[in-house]
Amino acid sequence: MRQPVYLDNNATTRLADEALEAMLPFLRDQFGNAGSAHTLGRLSEGAVVVARERCAALLGCAPAELVFTSGGTEGINHAFRGVFNAFPARRHFVTTAVEHSAVLAMADWLRDNGAQVTILGVDGQGRLDLAELEASLGPATAMVSVMAANNETGVLFPLAEIAALVKSRGILLHVDGTQALGKVAVDLARLPVDLFNFSGHKFHGPKGTGGLFLRRGLRLRPFMIGGGQERGRRGGTENVPGLVGLGVAAELAGAHLASAGAVRALRDSLEAFILDRIPGSRINGAQADRVPNTSMVSFDGVEGEAVLLRLDQAGICVSTGSACTTGQKEASHVLRAMGAPASGALGSVRFSLSRYTTETDLETLEGCLPAVVEELRSQGTLPAGKR
Ligand code: PLP
Repeated sequence: MRQPVYLDNNATTRLADEALEAMLPFLRDQFGNAGSAHTLGRLSEGAVVVARERCAALLGCAPAELVFTSGGTEGINHAFRGVFNAFPARRHFVTTAVEHSAVLAMADWLRDNGAQVTILGVDGQGRLDLAELEASLGPATAMVSVMAANNETGVLFPLAEIAALVKSRGILLHVDGTQALGKVAVDLARLPVDLFNFSGHKFHGPKGTGGLFLRRGLRLRPFMIGGGQERGRRGGTENVPGLVGLGVAAELAGAHLASAGAVRALRDSLEAFILDRIPGSRINGAQADRVPNTSMVSFDGVEGEAVLLRLDQAGICVSTGSACTTGQKEASHVLRAMGAPASGALGSVRFSLSRYTTETDLETLEGCLPAVVEELRSQGTLPAGKR
């Protein structure tokens, strides 16, 4: 199969070759259980220690503050359930309308369990109103949960300002860092957040790996009760090959942060091309701070899904912002929260680049995108009333 042009890196990323190479011995000969006392077990245990140090270095935290997880969703579940159980006297939580479905599902779970949840809105550029955040906080507020970067638009929330408001009131701050880690610098030594989750497959690590930072002193009930692994915070035999790959990917991501400007330059050139060559197109969140790799574009009068399918036929992988779950043709809740009409929210396409994206990749896309949009517009694919 010819390798497609891959511009869907916010969904998942290719595994870095270095990560794969590092994992292979642990899938073959060095298969010991990290909990075993013999040589093979100690090799695995040592590899997990190194992986934890590498991830901690990328986050700017102590290795002991890191619990390995299966990815972003598990970290989010751990954070919400853990804080809910640990602070029964505080039954109010705050989050935002543009969070990933994993956080929004936990907000529903909190309500089902008797908690009160405030959902903050955003402006037309996807930005939070900090005064509104401040006004939402009260003595019963247990935790504020915000994403570092939005998976659809790439818009960054101002974590330092948010932390200053939240922490001065003795409230816990959880950050869903899934789309930020590896794209922008994160330094938990300086940023006073209490919980921060991330996912390895978003920065060229293996799927099914990730972690949750729990600041020293924060004691939550274990997410999974079992054999006492992860210092009793998550039972279950460690995914040693996965964690080895995660650690290498974290180290590489840290080293490549300095060259994020190259990804940004590619993204910006793509946006300039689209705005110049495709009338009736808009970049969502363009005036806000964004991660360097993401561009969410609305094309008037076309369905994002139709653009996706045409580009797929041309060997180009992109995403619609409209739904994380394949086959679901719903208007993007993020764009709706930003005030987009149903047509705009349906007519959006997300291009997400990585350090592996080349100029040739973008030339391939630029060679067919204007014609695809024009053709779809001439066919009038968007249902009447949504154009
Ligand atoms: N949070 C955000 C912002 C995401 O983009 C994603 C995945 O797309 C998740 C959480 C869930 O992460 P995972 O796929 O590792 O469970």
